[in-house]
Amino acid sequence: MRENRNYTYCLDPQAQSPAKVEIDLPALAANYIYLKKQTSSMLMPVIKADAYGHGIVPVCRTLAGAGAEQFAVGTVEEGALLRETGFGGSLLALLGALAPEDVDLAIENRVTVIAGSAEQIRRIGARANGRDVLVALKFNTGMNRLGFVPGSLGSLFALLEENPCVKPVLAVSHLASADEDGGVQATLRQIEVFKDVVRAVKLRFPEIKISLYNSAGLLAYSKEFATDYVRPGLALYGANPLFGTKFNRPEIDAALKPVMRVKAPVVQVHPLLKGESISYGGTFTAPEDMQVAIVAAGYAQGYSRGMANKSEMSLNGKRCRVLGRICMQLVAVDTSNQPEAAEGDFAYILGGEGDNPVASHELAAWWGTIPYEVFCLLGSMNARNYPR
Ligand SMILES: *Cc1c(COP(=O)(O)O)cnc(C)c1O
Repeated sequence: MRENRNYTYCLDPQAQSPAKVEIDLPALAANYIYLKKQTSSMLMPVIKADAYGHGIVPVCRTLAGAGAEQFAVGTVEEGALLRETGFGGSLLALLGALAPEDVDLAIENRVTVIAGSAEQIRRIGARANGRDVLVALKFNTGMNRLGFVPGSLGSLFALLEENPCVKPVLAVSHLASADEDGGVQATLRQIEVFKDVVRAVKLRFPEIKISLYNSAGLLAYSKEFATDYVRPGLALYGANPLFGTKFNRPEIDAALKPVMRVKAPVVQVHPLLKGESISYGGTFTAPEDMQVAIVAAGYAQGYSRGMANKSEMSLNGKRCRVLGRICMQLVAVDTSNQPEAAEGDFAYILGGEGDNPVASHELAAWWGTIPYEVFCLLGSMNARNYPR
């Protein structure tokens, strides 16, 4: 217990949130098992950014329990945290060493760091100062975000010779458009470029392992070229990256189980009479007598204000439309279809009871974003529970 509690710093916004996040760990394990069956490669689950808002420690534990032996984290610090919890397998930090101290932390915790530029190799080598650093060489095969270009292999090999502490254990690249209908040519091209890079790298480092596919790549393209590791993120959390694309298969929708649910309590239920408007600006006017429930969630909980008059929640198994503007911690929903709705009920922002839960892709569409952002924001801004 801290003495002289300073309330400015003691209010934990997550714990304070009226909205509650429930993480279904058995569903996460089931998704892992399903994805594992889709490939002969080893899975390297991606648990960066606090496991896409699901909580990195419980997610790592659950997946390790299901058989995962290596993980991709974001920062080296996330890797160090997992070491503290006792994880002994291999860890890859996708963001690499952002600060010189990250090199020390990576060495102390046996975390492999991504390196995708000559400057990064030099900085890692300089800081390592005689100690071995495990490195994943990142290649730019067409996404043009990070990585060595295929034409720079000669100078890369020379640089690695000058920096013998830098030990390449992995060669990776990342697909830009594996979940896009129009991305077939670009993706196949990336795969071809990566194949060529791998061939050349393996001549120099025969033991090096390779990794290319994200969730969409794993489900749509991984038969094109076998790699040692695949790196699924999104699909593990139960969102189908191929949903709404020509690559989708009903079997994937049926197999992947949503992992995150988000609910908030109803604080008041009352009539909204014909002609009355609701919330700031009165942007919704009742066309007839209605009943509304006021739910304790708003943009401070990550429930984006841009969804005013657009989104739906699930209350007692039934869909309710959001009415009017979304406030900081409150929002109104239409409960005319359920006169029995009452204070203390829970409205689901994501998920729900019954057979029509709010899917992450639906919420993302109302929001004007993708399920990734929905998970990251709702999961990091609200209190998380792990019901058994
Ligand atoms: C986030 C990330 C992944 C996982 O992508 P999903 O689409 O969530 O499966 C894989 N590789 C890299 C380099 C990433 O940054």
